[in-house]
Amino acid sequence: MRKLENKVAVVTGGNSGIGLATAILFAENGAKVAITGCDQRTLDIAVKEIGNDAIGIISDVSDIKNIEAQFRKVTDSFGKIDVLVVNAGVYIAGTVADFTEEQFDQATDINFKGVFFTVQKALPYLNNGASVVLTSSSVSNMGVAGVSVYSATKAAVYSLAKAFSSELADRNIRVNILSPGPVETPIMKRDGATEEQLEAIRAFAGGTTLIGRMAQPEEIAEGFLYLASDDSKYMLGGELLLDGGMRIK
Ligand code: NAD
Repeated sequence: MRKLENKVAVVTGGNSGIGLATAILFAENGAKVAITGCDQRTLDIAVKEIGNDAIGIISDVSDIKNIEAQFRKVTDSFGKIDVLVVNAGVYIAGTVADFTEEQFDQATDINFKGVFFTVQKALPYLNNGASVVLTSSSVSNMGVAGVSVYSATKAAVYSLAKAFSSELADRNIRVNILSPGPVETPIMKRDGATEEQLEAIRAFAGGTTLIGRMAQPEEIAEGFLYLASDDSKYMLGGELLLDGGMRIK
């Protein structure tokens, strides 16, 4: 059975990694999918890959002015929105001793402020009964060295999901988070790692899990489908943890 037949779904950062795998799975399940991202070339490639008349919208979540326009474009094309996956994010690592103010602002503007205003600007365009899923991370409540700011932005997102659920319950809008562990996506390559360094990252990151490997984006997309669909209709303000046992290792 197709779980999102004729539903309208928006996936921010849907031109890469976890977001792209999710957009593809949603389209296979019958959704009309709109993806957003910062890069026109990868958006165009992704839209073709997703199929089912998907659309791509250029939009930077750290520039709040254009977020509302992005939702207006979606509803002009497809009608009001049933599923919103707030997935766009950046991974910026650095210790408390070394992290710069510029890095701090970039991480928080995209991963925290961008998430808050994406949901706020979506509100007039969401159908009652919609499902909103925010992307957090397994590290959000761990103490992993070198990722304090990233982890804090992802903890903030969980906090938002709980309060948003309370505020939006009268519209039957559910807000939940999905927390992936290490997933093999282009996020690993964004600071120019060589193939040798990538292999070392894979081995290290896989070793932080009980299962002994990184996840593939498609394994995480299955979780987004669960949270987006009526399969999770009794879940509000909750966390779906897909981390290969990282938190309990
Ligand atoms: P990715 O780099 O492949 O994808 C990130 C997406 O976010 C891209 O589509 C990018 O265009 C978009 N994006 C980044 N900055 C943006 C901005 N300012 N405006 C609009 N879009 C922007 O990485 P991914 O691994 O697929 O990450 C997706 C989400 O999952 C992120 O929120 C990330 O923090 C989270 N996550 C990833 C992992 C992992 O190990 N890969 C683990 C836990 C959580």
